[in-house]
Amino acid sequence: MMIYLESLGCCRNQVDSEVMLGRLEAAGHGIVHDPSLAEVIIVNTCGFISAASSEAVDIILAMAGYKKEGKCQRLVVTGCMTERFKDDDLVSELPEVDAFLGTGACDRIVDVVEDGSGKTLSLFPDTCAREMQGLPLPRITTLDHLAHVKISEGCNRHCTYCIIPQLRGIQRSRSIEEVVAEGEALVRQGVREIVLVGENTSDYGVDLEPAGDLSVLLTTLAERIASIAPEAWIRLLYTHPSSLSREMIEAVAKLDNVCTYFDVPIQHASSRMLRRMGRNYTREDLYDLFAFIRKVDPDAALRTTLITGFPGETETDFQEMLDFVKEIRFDQLGVFAYSDADDLKSHSLKDHVPEETGEIRRDAIMAAQALISEEINEKYLDRTVTVLVEENPDEGIYLGRTGFQAPEVDGFTFVYGSGLEIGTFVRVKINDTHEYDISGEIA
Ligand code: SF4
Repeated sequence: MMIYLESLGCCRNQVDSEVMLGRLEAAGHGIVHDPSLAEVIIVNTCGFISAASSEAVDIILAMAGYKKEGKCQRLVVTGCMTERFKDDDLVSELPEVDAFLGTGACDRIVDVVEDGSGKTLSLFPDTCAREMQGLPLPRITTLDHLAHVKISEGCNRHCTYCIIPQLRGIQRSRSIEEVVAEGEALVRQGVREIVLVGENTSDYGVDLEPAGDLSVLLTTLAERIASIAPEAWIRLLYTHPSSLSREMIEAVAKLDNVCTYFDVPIQHASSRMLRRMGRNYTREDLYDLFAFIRKVDPDAALRTTLITGFPGETETDFQEMLDFVKEIRFDQLGVFAYSDADDLKSHSLKDHVPEETGEIRRDAIMAAQALISEEINEKYLDRTVTVLVEENPDEGIYLGRTGFQAPEVDGFTFVYGSGLEIGTFVRVKINDTHEYDISGEIA
């Protein structure tokens, strides 16, 4: 059967989509990139915040149109939105859908696609049911030169604004051998940037017997990848401030093919708010952490994410966060206004902040960050940096990223030149810098 998959949400969900496509292709099905040509359409949904769930429903209904207009005979919906609303009557709310799969069932995708019972299927095994050992290879990566690799699934923490532990279960880490084997296979097939992901990558291995260690995983993976493709990059995302250890920081800084890029979502910088969020660290801990990173590598790139308008946030709390952003000067930063929902612990907290206030505070942080980012980018003027070439949008111009620019969330490097190959590295002399992007010519 010809299959089309629409992948929504984060890169962790995208990995699930790529693994599902790998399983389907291995079972003899074909993959198409146009839903009008598909006999089976799969929508892998995101349900992290209500806006994501609404977007998922819109796309499901749009895809259902192909059951009338196209060749589609079966519409399958998977991922976090189905998991979040599994107790609702999804079958009657979305009668167009032939099968609903929870996050614990995405590895049953071949059975579901090949199911001929004509009945609407609903598969919602325990979110922890998904075995994270023995994930199949090859998967169908979205890009040839870049791949996200899950090192774990689920989370043992209980941040009050977050639904992920309910959607993805408790932490289950993959073995170092498995992650390294997947990394090697991907680099052999041409991938030149491996991005390690999980809900909390710095919690890696806490559930393994004996416990696994992220710095050991990084060191082993870096050595093995370097022996295959010395130029290939490894990037680590989603570390947690309270488990990102000094050993991990030193490992990242020491390993040549690991980007000295620290993605540390802090969510806030007022200790009072961090307590209400259930984050288990304080403003002082954050100062120590970033000071240590900068001591180990003054050129390290720092990325973080923040939430504004969290229940109970006062003007003083917000000012503490804004001052912290101006003081630490993150290279990359994302900020979101708090999104309430009645299945979140934070919903029952007192003193909710009006949505508009959350948005005004979000915009104020982004305005401050735009100035900081522009000033930081100026330090690259007349410097030569290594760029992974990703796109060729027009003649004589390429889009790429440096080690301090992560995929999908950070700025780009514009490269002026010709004859470059997508998925290769070039040295670029930076001759212009902008708010979020930089540009230059082949050195
Ligand atoms: S650590 Fe991250 S994934 Fe886990 S509960 Fe907190 S925000 Fe959610």
